[in-house]
Amino acid sequence: MKPAEPHRSGLLRRFYGTFVRPYLALQAEIAFCLLVGVVLSLIDPLILRAIIDRALGDGDRAALLALTGLLVLVFLFRAAFRLLSTYLYSYSGLRILFDVRQKAFEHAQRLSPYFFRRERLGDLLSRLTSDVDALQQAAAHTAVNAASDALTLAGIAILLCWLDPLLAGLMALAFVPLIVAMKRVNRGLRVEGSRAREAYGGMFAFIEERLAGVRLVQEHNRQKAEARGHVRAARPVIESNMRLSMTGSAQTALADLVNTVCLVIIFAVGGLRALSGSLSVGSLVAYYTLASRLYKPLTGLIEVNVQIQVARASLARLFDLFDSAPQVRDDPRAKAPARIRGEVTLSRVGLAWDQGTRVLDGVDLEISAGQVVALVGRTGSGKSTLAAMLSRYLDATQGDIHLDGVSVRAWPLPTLRAAVGLVPQETQLFHDTLAANLRLARRRATDAELLDALEAAGLAQFVRDLPRGLDTTVGEQGLRLSGGERQRLALARVLLKDPWLFVLDEATSALDPQTERLVLDRFRARVRGRSVLIIGHRLTSLTDVDRIFVLDSGRIVESGLHADLYRARGLYRSLYDDQLRHDVEAEA
Ligand code: ATP
Ligand code: MG
Repeated sequence: MKPAEPHRSGLLRRFYGTFVRPYLALQAEIAFCLLVGVVLSLIDPLILRAIIDRALGDGDRAALLALTGLLVLVFLFRAAFRLLSTYLYSYSGLRILFDVRQKAFEHAQRLSPYFFRRERLGDLLSRLTSDVDALQQAAAHTAVNAASDALTLAGIAILLCWLDPLLAGLMALAFVPLIVAMKRVNRGLRVEGSRAREAYGGMFAFIEERLAGVRLVQEHNRQKAEARGHVRAARPVIESNMRLSMTGSAQTALADLVNTVCLVIIFAVGGLRALSGSLSVGSLVAYYTLASRLYKPLTGLIEVNVQIQVARASLARLFDLFDSAPQVRDDPRAKAPARIRGEVTLSRVGLAWDQGTRVLDGVDLEISAGQVVALVGRTGSGKSTLAAMLSRYLDATQGDIHLDGVSVRAWPLPTLRAAVGLVPQETQLFHDTLAANLRLARRRATDAELLDALEAAGLAQFVRDLPRGLDTTVGEQGLRLSGGERQRLALARVLLKDPWLFVLDEATSALDPQTERLVLDRFRARVRGRSVLIIGHRLTSLTDVDRIFVLDSGRIVESGLHADLYRARGLYRSLYDDQLRHDVEAEA
């Protein structure tokens, strides 16, 4: 995805519309608590004024005690409401941001695996984690603080005007330069915020990639170089955040100055008025107390402003993720054919990558129900791409693929994915037990069924010999399986899935030729009646299939039985002979 555009309008509106609206009742409760809290926090200077002017001025003991009691009560209530509103807004913020992350995760899961090949996973992860966190800061804390600060400022302003309009007017003048400065700085803040978020994305991507590929780093003794790379990736994060905090601080310093000017005005003008008797001392004290309380909400608002501008960048990045539509779309009117048999027809199928390079061109291929077909060809000829298209990880840009007479686009995606079982070239396992990895294919499979599938894939004995058997954890921190073991596990998994069309993309390439033949024979005996497409490089293991298709530079150049193709002396023959020679040399 390209860098997000932080100036885009409607970002905040969209956020509130999509994510905050469901919690309007909660927002109303928060608003109520805030309002009460603000009112309570503005009352005490007035009580103070009454104590000085009335109770002390008139020497009224009873009033003094009553007013002091009232003061205590106000403080208690204020504390209680502060606790309540903290609880409410923390909950609301966490809840809303949880929704954002949940939606982002659900959306990311729907994107084609080919999307993840183009994007850097780390950048995506940073959108799901650190951008959501940045928003959380802004949404939970900031929004509420901003509301509370703004209310407090408004309340103070009203009280100041009421106490002495002249003083209040003079003070308002002092605020003009601050407001002008803030408006000017905001655009820059957004750009910087956006840079900071992109920088986080870049840093995450770097760390994720280098840690996932730590073997590559160690193999080439790149540790020092990659450590320097980390410095380079982290520098923009530090620089951007420094600039953000300095901009915020500069504004706060300006606010400090404005506040000092205000206090000077109060004492100079207000003091003179008190001396001349047109303002009571109590009012002056109340005025001073109120005015000195301007500072906190004011600087609060300035910080909030910085955070909101940064949050806009995060929002833009998140919405970009939401807007990256899955290339493969499920048609809501899609209906599965009445009978599924696993019959495949590719007619003039072509595929071009985004940048226009053509990988498949006018491919015609047919697999009748129950047939075992092989697809062979040089590396890079487009075999895996074709396999990915059968279960719609990619859509043809030309021609169409029919499964049981219905275009794959007209199949409901889940039904299609259940009908086609793809074992991709790179085996993927989750960090979980063997059993859990197998049960991805069939949730309710019994242990006996799991072992049965493993048996067919030639891995049952291996699993039985493990001390914890099917409960052995595999994947990242668990048992590391050998390449061939992983492949056989994937084979067992697809057997459990039991689709109508099996697509094995070099699913046995890591096995030695003898084991490969054994595993493939057992596999075929077991799935008799189902259609199978085997993609492989070891042609000697594929001689007895029902039909062989030879792919070259995205086109089917030959097809037929092994014997016929061998006699035809074309590409197949040359690939086959090469391999035979190699095998003989290897044996010699
Ligand atoms: P191999 O035998 O090595 O597995 P293959 O026949 O399976 O090769 P494919 O994986 O289908 O080949 O790739 C076909 C071509 O498409 C290759 O040239 C590859 O570089 C290119 N390719 C694959 N994925 C993408 C992508 N996401 N964007 C652009 N080009 C791609
Ligand atoms: Mg491939």
